[in-house]
Amino acid sequence: MSHSDEYTFETRLLHNDHKIDPATGSVSVPIQHASTYHQFDLDCFGKYDYCRSSNPTREALEETIASLEEGTKGFAFSSGMSAISTAFLLLSQGDHVLISEDVYGGTYRMVTEVLSRYGIEYTFVDMTDLTKLEQLIRTNTKVIYIETPSNPLLKVSDIEAISKLAKQVGALTFVDNTFLTPALQKPLTLGADVVLHSATKFLSGHSDVLAGLAVVKDESIAKKLAFLQNAFGAVLGVQDAWLVLRGLKTLHVRLEQSMKSAEKIATYLQKHPLVKRVYYPGLPNHNGYELQHRQAKGSGAVLSFELESEAVLRSFVSNVQLPVFAVSLGAVESILSYPAKMSHAAMPEEEREKRGISNSLLRLSVGLENSEDLIKDFVAALDESLVRTPILSGDRGI
Ligand SMILES: *Cc1c(COP(=O)(O)O)cnc(C)c1O
Repeated sequence: MSHSDEYTFETRLLHNDHKIDPATGSVSVPIQHASTYHQFDLDCFGKYDYCRSSNPTREALEETIASLEEGTKGFAFSSGMSAISTAFLLLSQGDHVLISEDVYGGTYRMVTEVLSRYGIEYTFVDMTDLTKLEQLIRTNTKVIYIETPSNPLLKVSDIEAISKLAKQVGALTFVDNTFLTPALQKPLTLGADVVLHSATKFLSGHSDVLAGLAVVKDESIAKKLAFLQNAFGAVLGVQDAWLVLRGLKTLHVRLEQSMKSAEKIATYLQKHPLVKRVYYPGLPNHNGYELQHRQAKGSGAVLSFELESEAVLRSFVSNVQLPVFAVSLGAVESILSYPAKMSHAAMPEEEREKRGISNSLLRLSVGLENSEDLIKDFVAALDESLVRTPILSGDRGI
């Protein structure tokens, strides 16, 4: 870990323990396809034996993410969901999880429809309300699961305070750090126990790979998770590990640029008469603004906005040109998603409405396009909505 402590984050994205392959001098991590390894000694096996347990390419990614998150051990999985699901296997029958109420839809599905069958109890909670959270803690609460900023309402919860609370009652704190990445937020330094990622998003950044990561600091949790990674076996393939490693090199510049544009777009949208509300922790009027700036270096590149009605949303989506209309986020191209029918489709409508994920809410993950081009595109699509929904424009006196 010689490079880890000396340099800043952006330099360490490039100059880390895996910048040069010691065998050949190659400046790109070699993709090691072997599924098994010859053992030279009957009594003393080498470091690698079988690729599910460990292989050098995946290991390079695991060590890199561990260093970037300031943890001790990283684990790479075949998807964000397999990282999250494997981490949940730290729980046993009879345990209880407290979980962010507007958590990623796939996590919601895992907890409510799978873990529940194995006798693991759960309670959804607004993680921004610490008093409520404390009241909901039970004697069998073993994990507090945070997503901050949350998805898709970008609510900010206090990682340090929640981790402290969890420690007091002997529970672990899991943080899904997909939205901000260690470039902006390092949950382990704030007391969290397990950091989870869908590396499919910003870490890889190019909409071309599915991957998940987990990082821990504590040795005994690391041992348990290593055991589970091998036992459950949802590991990341070597080609995909390489793609994530490549994406990571530009993480800082991508996120920095996208975040600048996100701030501009959020400010612009907030002023538009057809936009009811903008959710972005970088806006000074956001509830979590101060906390966000205390615990993270920035607000990221994802924002959500609620349009005047579902009709306006439909018109906007059919007229907007630049962003792709798709699930996912965190890519070089801007991605516009419809949480009600995409990330949160697994959540019943009633539950969605309760959480504020209405049918007129859109989520935007800002990519690397010129921000003025994006704003121009949005203005044109919103203007078109005004023309198509004249009753609304009359209502608003425009
Ligand atoms: C996409 C996503 C996941 C799931 O990750 P996959 O790589 O799609 O399995 C989990 N959490 C968040 C916040 C996500 O955006």
